[in-house]
Amino acid sequence: MSDYNISAIGHIQSPYKQKFAIPRQPRLVPQAKAKLIFSPDFNREEFVRGLDEFTHIWLLFRFHETADKGYSAMVRPPRLGGNERKGVFATRATFRPNAIGMSAVKLEGIEYKNGQLSLLLAGIDLLDGTPIIDIKPYLPYSDSMPDASAGFADTRPETEMTVEFSPQAIEFINAQTQYPELHDFISNVLKQDPRPAYKKQKEEMQSYGMTLYNFNIRWQVNDSHNLVTNIEKN
Ligand code: SAH
Repeated sequence: MSDYNISAIGHIQSPYKQKFAIPRQPRLVPQAKAKLIFSPDFNREEFVRGLDEFTHIWLLFRFHETADKGYSAMVRPPRLGGNERKGVFATRATFRPNAIGMSAVKLEGIEYKNGQLSLLLAGIDLLDGTPIIDIKPYLPYSDSMPDASAGFADTRPETEMTVEFSPQAIEFINAQTQYPELHDFISNVLKQDPRPAYKKQKEEMQSYGMTLYNFNIRWQVNDSHNLVTNIEKN
């Protein structure tokens, strides 16, 4: 087998500070905004000239956080409740040979500010710091296949989760005027039900935590109801 050298063309600045609670695919949470910061070798407007004509782009990236953890031939997709196994190439698992991921995301703008070129993105499923190895425009005439079928992942995952915020959480959110979508962002992340499959079967109330931006968010899950109990700066 040949080896290739691939180096990042940039990296992602994302509100998702740890893997837990990141949605399993892009565009499930439209309020998830990020910036793609170009590396010095690609920090020139020429590299993206014309890209502003596209509403969506493909990102190819490295699952850098888990890349050194290896892979196996078969994985348990969360979709199947964590009980059934499929071949790694039949899934979008992060633990895969070469650890390359791809996401189609919304391109909201191109910014050149203080000498730094960046792309403004929405609907991302990427961890903060993710290295980007390529960018391509999304081509609806070819990339969109409305008649395609997708077996065990055929429909958008829908959960019946409801989300409620404590008075402290609401007050905290209202004070964060720099993030006007914070309430809907948190709410949509929790509606995706980020809990691992084996936890979902447990009956008793459980408590969880995640960090979005620089906020530590705590919530409790009781059946299909989420209660955001507390938010504070970390
Ligand atoms: N859309 C991509 C990613 C699917 S897996 C693809 O199909 O290739 C999505 C999961 O990847 C998220 O839930 C998150 O937990 C994980 N993830 C995101 N960025 C990552 C990174 N840089 N390293 C490791 N895992 C990451």
